[in-house]
Amino acid sequence: MLKLAIQKSGRLHEDSMKLLKECGIAISNGANKLKTEASNFPLHVFFLRDDDIPQYVEDGVADIGIVGENVVFEKNKSVRVIEQLGFGTCRLSIAVMRGAEYNNIHALEGKRIATSYPFLTRQFLEKNEVSAEIHEISGSVEIAPGIGLSDAICDLVSSGSTLLSNGLKEVETILYSQAVLIGHRQFSKSQQETLEKLLFRVHAVKKAKNNKYVLLNAPNDKLQEIIGMLPGMKSPTVLPLAEEGWSSVHSVLSEDEFWDKIERLKAAGAQGILVVPIEKMVM
Ligand code: ATP
Ligand code: ZN
Repeated sequence: MLKLAIQKSGRLHEDSMKLLKECGIAISNGANKLKTEASNFPLHVFFLRDDDIPQYVEDGVADIGIVGENVVFEKNKSVRVIEQLGFGTCRLSIAVMRGAEYNNIHALEGKRIATSYPFLTRQFLEKNEVSAEIHEISGSVEIAPGIGLSDAICDLVSSGSTLLSNGLKEVETILYSQAVLIGHRQFSKSQQETLEKLLFRVHAVKKAKNNKYVLLNAPNDKLQEIIGMLPGMKSPTVLPLAEEGWSSVHSVLSEDEFWDKIERLKAAGAQGILVVPIEKMVM
């Protein structure tokens, strides 16, 4: 039995639940619960505040947890990062009033910085040999400069719209973050086996997200050129079409080469290109 801690509510809750679902693990939604049990996998799920998850994992109250790297590094507990999960992406940045003069990091010398991330902020300032006053506040950090509480903030940013609407500009990025799976360091043999089972599924889900299934029609005289552009998992599937001189080609393309390849395939004579999401992918 493995005990997993996920965020009870907030930005990581839904994606964490979705990941479990995509891994074929059935759990009831725990909106009002502290704990639930998967019906088809040896997993207990605890619903907690994200800030508490590293501590619970360090203590072994939970064996594994899903939490932002920002929280993992800020809390600095004795846990290991097992896997990056690709959601909850954001960055931890320093921002100052839009009108403030800012040439480089030394503009922060002697200034007051409001943050919920005192450890990471201090570490960053020390590394850059800047001494500033850190004011730890737990929420609504972005309003601190506007109400005269601080000169700058260090906070999480994703689109930047919150900074913009509070008259702030981003000047330094301390950390790029995403949700990760963390774990403690002493798994029993059976826990390790369960974790590996879970990771096998997580990898299949992640891989599928990064790939698309592509079907297209190709004139036979262009077939070799078109196949050359499509690696597929082993090699592309080629089937004759009912229409003489044409074939149907099926393959897998990764997200990052996708648009470039599609344009080249079209230019090479491919027609009727269909692109389909893949649910799971096991190599
Ligand atoms: P809790 O009640 O669990 O303590 P919280 O208010 O601390 O919740 P959320 O705002 O739900 O936390 O954010 C949880 C995590 O989502 C963050 O720690 C971070 O990893 C990630 N995240 C992604 N984008 C953003 C963003 N724009 N602002 C804040 N967090 C973000
Ligand atoms: Zn939190």
